[in-house]
Amino acid sequence: MKNELTNDILKVLYTEEQLNERVRELGAEIAERFAGRQPLFVGILKGSVLFLADLIRACPLRCDLEMMAVSSYGNATASSGRVRINHDLQQDIRGRDLILVEDILDSGNTLCFLKDYLKAKGAASITIVTLLDKPSGRQKAVNADYVGFTVPDAFVVGYGLDYAQFYRNLPYIGILKPEVYEKS
Ligand code: 5GP
Ligand code: MG
Repeated sequence: MKNELTNDILKVLYTEEQLNERVRELGAEIAERFAGRQPLFVGILKGSVLFLADLIRACPLRCDLEMMAVSSYGNATASSGRVRINHDLQQDIRGRDLILVEDILDSGNTLCFLKDYLKAKGAASITIVTLLDKPSGRQKAVNADYVGFTVPDAFVVGYGLDYAQFYRNLPYIGILKPEVYEKS
């Protein structure tokens, strides 16, 4: 269906159905691994919200939820390398098993910073779940425990991921036409 959002998409990488199926698989794997425990999901705002909402519904555990907001990007399509906390945890995480939920692991700067930060706050364990992994962008040695899809070296949007705050509401993930960010 053509509309003002889909016109800017070069190619659909993962359809709504593919996302749905993969998120259900991840949820089942995580639920099995954490059975009998009470993990704390920590979603990274804003990109992970759609994924997080679907993931926790696919994960029938006795778990709770926190959100953190960090920024390293501004409106550019390349990482600045600096990470700043804009919204922090609202509870003590000492001794907790954390499940960190991210939209995309690119340079690794965000998750490398967050892992150190959460470890220093006393988390018992930190499990990283990322919907997308873009290994070609990696600058820091950080890997995810659970990866939805490994993506090529392109700027992707949709299902929570933005360009300049737009496109988060696309129900699928696609590659943005380069002219969209080249012209701005
Ligand atoms: P990292 O710190 O690993 O470089 O990047 C993590 C953040 O960069 C992600 O949470 C996301 O906000 C942003 N990012 C990296 N690659 C992409 C991409 O292809 N598309 C979008 N929309 N954001 C990206
Ligand atoms: Mg993000």
